Amino acid sequence: MGKMKKKKKLVRMVLYIGLVLVLGMVIYQVRSAYLRAEAAKAAEAKKQAQEEARRKEEARKKKNEWVKKDGKSYYYGEDGKVVIGRYIQEKKIYYTDDTGAVVRTVDGEKPMVAITYDDGPSQFTDDFAQLFKKHDSAATFFEVGNRMNEFEEEAKTITEAYCELANHTYTHQNLTRVSVSGMHNQLNKCDRKLREFGEQAETILVRPPEGAVNETVKKNIHAPIILWSVDTLDWKSRNAESVYRKATTNIKDGDIILMHSLYESTLKASKRIVPELIDQGYQLVTVTDLAQFRGGLKNGEKYFDIKPVESEKEDQKSQDETTTTEEEKTTEEL
Ligand SMILES: [Zn+2]
Repeated sequence: MGKMKKKKKLVRMVLYIGLVLVLGMVIYQVRSAYLRAEAAKAAEAKKQAQEEARRKEEARKKKNEWVKKDGKSYYYGEDGKVVIGRYIQEKKIYYTDDTGAVVRTVDGEKPMVAITYDDGPSQFTDDFAQLFKKHDSAATFFEVGNRMNEFEEEAKTITEAYCELANHTYTHQNLTRVSVSGMHNQLNKCDRKLREFGEQAETILVRPPEGAVNETVKKNIHAPIILWSVDTLDWKSRNAESVYRKATTNIKDGDIILMHSLYESTLKASKRIVPELIDQGYQLVTVTDLAQFRGGLKNGEKYFDIKPVESEKEDQKSQDETTTTEEEKTTEEL
């Protein structure tokens, strides 16, 4: 009896262990299958999300489009990439930072003037640049090439503030008093220096020192020659009040204002001139931007100001528009 009992107990134990093993294997298999299915589902979902993102990107690439992100505006161009730098859209000029976010806009339909500073850079250049940046405005700096390294840190701030660097020769040479090759040397050396400091314009504008231009100079400058319509005589008076009055009285759309970035009195005056001209309804723009929708600039031509295109053309344009409207009406009536 005792032996039988022992044997039965042993058999039961073997059966029991077998059952546990089988159960364990079944559970393991089911669980593995479940995990595999989950993983496959997740992979599929990820693939779909990626596909969706790619389709969206494709769709966006097909058209030129403005996108707003975190309160900033970006423009996606023909190639579906964010446009970076200076670009034209309809009758507006846009400037962006390195990410393509718009930092400044110039409206071609609104009045504008160009403030210009000669003879820099100087210890005040950074202050001038920051003043314009603070007011969402810009100026053109006609710089002397051999001063750029002397005031390297200050000179860098001009293009960083989305202002324009322009050529005032390499050593402030009166161009009517040098040979043709000397003239080219003065202009080319200065151009190269300005490009080193970030100027990207295809043609860099020139202001000959002392405004001295003769036929030889005109023929040999392969860039627009920018003079001025408003002379503040800041170098002579060194008086902020006088400079302020000259730069803000009787200013007209298209004026080019002449100052020099060498004087503290000019900086002091500019801090009042900039907000005052904005109050008078002017956009403060670079000379290049002033000319953008006003016929552009030609190499070897002299410019004292850049007025809006004559009202005659405007009249013609509105007449054309009226005609179109009438034609449309006729079509509708038919
Ligand atoms: Zn000068």
